[in-house]
Amino acid sequence: MMETEKKTMTLYLVVPCYNEEAVLPETAKQLGAKFAHLIRDGRISRESRITFVNDGSKDGTWALISQLCSGKGARLFCGIDLAHNAGHQAAVLAGLMTVKDRCDAAITMDADLQDDVDAIDQMVDAYYAGNQVVYGVRSSRKTDSWFKRHTAESFYKFMKLMGTEVVYNHADFRLMSRRVLDELSRFPESNLFLRGMIPMIGFQSTNVYYERHERFAGESKYPLRKMLHFAAEGITSFSVKPLKIITNLGFLMVAVSIIMFLWAFFTKFTGHSEQGWSSTVCSIWLIGGIQTLCLGIIGEYIGKIYAEVKRRPRYIVAEFLHDEEQDPEA
Ligand code: UDP
Ligand code: MG
Repeated sequence: MMETEKKTMTLYLVVPCYNEEAVLPETAKQLGAKFAHLIRDGRISRESRITFVNDGSKDGTWALISQLCSGKGARLFCGIDLAHNAGHQAAVLAGLMTVKDRCDAAITMDADLQDDVDAIDQMVDAYYAGNQVVYGVRSSRKTDSWFKRHTAESFYKFMKLMGTEVVYNHADFRLMSRRVLDELSRFPESNLFLRGMIPMIGFQSTNVYYERHERFAGESKYPLRKMLHFAAEGITSFSVKPLKIITNLGFLMVAVSIIMFLWAFFTKFTGHSEQGWSSTVCSIWLIGGIQTLCLGIIGEYIGKIYAEVKRRPRYIVAEFLHDEEQDPEA
């Protein structure tokens, strides 16, 4: 491991693009300049590349990417064309899995220049300092609208409450080492939520703080509808807490029914009760409680089935210290 850290790293950038013809020329220009600079300074190797993943765009995005890969400075660029629109997370994963065997580390970033191009330098430094994952974290949300800021911040808080571990204010701008990408390839799930999966893998990580800019051109491909869907995806792909809430609710309702029973007896014997009222109310609570509890118990099993079908790795070995001579294969 020490050897890879000493030699100049090969860095791949993975940039998902969906209908991004308005920003792509500028993005390519800025990223190209950044890479040329890093290569000149000997920070990254000459084999490093900027990879654009065309996520089934309906505009001229792929034509632009093809041009970049054949025109002047083509050596810096490569392109992956997905057969249909697979969605942001799938496009990012497609890019990472395609390039993983060619690089020492990969950085994923959006095509619209909202992620700070200069933060790449700090990510590279953090990689040389021994980090396997470097999270790009927004230092403020000044450029966001009031609505976007509040929905986004509540999103992180709600995720935590629901049992999904995510890095606060980190989206999908991050560096991952080859090692992490290899481990990521062992997660065969199709409901993707990369910001939950990467922290789950583990390894030494750090944060790099950056100011997020306005979208350079074009419009957001994440309307509120998609954002809500994404939040639901994050919770249901990572946590069975909602199912546990049902079980707890069931227990609570049974407890309430017991209190209702005691109260019904009390009122009956003190002579204040209506004919038939106590038995009706107590039955409603008890039956409701038992039903909710049963749903919760079924839910617990469904949660287990869900965890099994995902076939995630059960553990990830970070290091194995052993005596070479005892190794049968050595
Ligand atoms: N994107 C994609 N496939 C999609 C939607 C978005 O590859 O189906 C890409 C898009 O081109 C951009 C990134 O994902 O590079 C983030 O999208 P966007 O900037 O529209 O989201 P926002 O920043 O508004 O949340
Ligand atoms: Mg954006």
